[in-house]
Amino acid sequence: MQELTHYINGAHVKGTSGRFANVYNPATGEVQAKVPLASKAELDNAVEIAAEAQVAWSKVNPQRRARVMMAFVGLLNRDMDKLAEALSREHGKTIPDAKGDIQRGLEVVEYCVGAPQMLKGEFTDSAGPGIDMYSMRQALGVTAGITPFNFPAMIPMWMFAPAIVCGNAFILKPSERDPSVPLMLAELLEEAGLPKGILQVVNGDKESVDAILYNDTIQSVGFVGSTPIAEYIYGTGCAQGKRVQCFGGAKNHMIIMPDADLDQAADALVGAGYGAAGERCMAISVAVPVGEETADRLIEKLVPRIEALKVGPYTAGDDVDYGPVVTAAAKDNILSLVQTGIDQGAELVVDGRDFNLQGYEDGFFVGAHLFDRVTPDMDIYKKEIFGPVLSTVRAASYEEAIALAMDHEYGNGTAIYTRDGDTARDFANRINIGMVGINVPIPVPLAYHTFGGWKKSAFGDLNQHGPDAFKFYTRTKTITSRWPSGIKEGGEFNFKAME
Ligand code: NAD
Repeated sequence: MQELTHYINGAHVKGTSGRFANVYNPATGEVQAKVPLASKAELDNAVEIAAEAQVAWSKVNPQRRARVMMAFVGLLNRDMDKLAEALSREHGKTIPDAKGDIQRGLEVVEYCVGAPQMLKGEFTDSAGPGIDMYSMRQALGVTAGITPFNFPAMIPMWMFAPAIVCGNAFILKPSERDPSVPLMLAELLEEAGLPKGILQVVNGDKESVDAILYNDTIQSVGFVGSTPIAEYIYGTGCAQGKRVQCFGGAKNHMIIMPDADLDQAADALVGAGYGAAGERCMAISVAVPVGEETADRLIEKLVPRIEALKVGPYTAGDDVDYGPVVTAAAKDNILSLVQTGIDQGAELVVDGRDFNLQGYEDGFFVGAHLFDRVTPDMDIYKKEIFGPVLSTVRAASYEEAIALAMDHEYGNGTAIYTRDGDTARDFANRINIGMVGINVPIPVPLAYHTFGGWKKSAFGDLNQHGPDAFKFYTRTKTITSRWPSGIKEGGEFNFKAME
């Protein structure tokens, strides 16, 4: 059995805690590797090495740091197939979807090539008599990130690329479910020219997360994962005086207006609801058709599309729409939530419970499910299912539909399908959700915009990537200077305004 490692100071390092987690191949259900779970001592050691390396790295000029990112982009493209294979083998998503995962991370690395522009600061000449004022953005020191299983390439890159290009060192604690790609990314970054110790990959679970939260050297913590853990990390990290941003769970609604192109809406719902087996924080998990007639027609269009979905292992290549979910526990959780839906009175229009794939009986596959007549009091509406289950809540009017999305505790993404510009504009302005699609089902912003939800989907005041990342990973220092020739004689006792 393969024993994975940590990546410390430019080398693969075996775990010493004696604790391991199983890494599965979700398509077969087999344990394919074990990953070490770091102790506090291992985490603290990685931080100490990073802190030493960061001093020199922060003094490397921004253009040279950006060139490392430029070279890294080339290496990601060179190794795209290899990375995608490793990603799919541990996560279960299809190869084209794994490439999308890598590509969306790569695009943030490309954005980071513009670091010299982002870091160049501000200057006011003659802010007062003989006085100049300037601001600069300085690296924080050692930063850390804790990432989820569902985007094992993209989300680590969203964090470590801006952190590192700003002159920080970064401690990455990836998900213990699929840790191989993060280790490969660390190797590639070093091949691209990153000095040893600047990106340290420490594998682990709650013990290493707590070690991050209570390590005094670590200045900032980024987290992406489920909301209860996001709340814990945000509260604990802030109480320790760290800069913290945490991104949590989701329940994304798509509103389908009576004037929408229902074929387009149905296609969009199938892709956004079932792609990656529904294991995306931007997946659409609730369809809200407006009016009974829209609902009936939509269900009619959805059923054959959902029944035609091809579910299988990533090794089947393009011939598969989605793969298995990540673990047996995830599968059990999804199926038990489906059962609550039935028990609480929702109508199961497409039933995927008996799905079985010949030759892959031990894999963690879940058939596609479609519920109709779901109501807001049901567990399948309130909870994030994170599986191939789409719930339909019928709304009598646009006002009822928008109120549903606004009253839900999550606020990551949402979409509206309509041909009416006024309705779309009203929706975009009023909705209390961070990312909005108008006839776009998964409105994930590109690298040069920022990504982040509202309400219980995000904690902290800055988003991921885009300009916010440069703010999150730097501190502003503002200098006011006056040289001796500008200084008049005598003390000044009043709090001065500029003359
Ligand atoms: P998770 O919360 O179980 O795990 C995320 C990370 O936290 C992992 O690194 C894990 O090791 C660590 N962790 C787990 N339990 C912990 C504990 N008790 N204490 C400290 N750390 C702990 O999430 P997941 O299952 O890996 O990912 C799926 C979740 O992530 C979903 O809720 C999804 O919506 C969310 N997600 C959100 C976004 C976003 O940007 N909002 C993006 C992707 C995923």
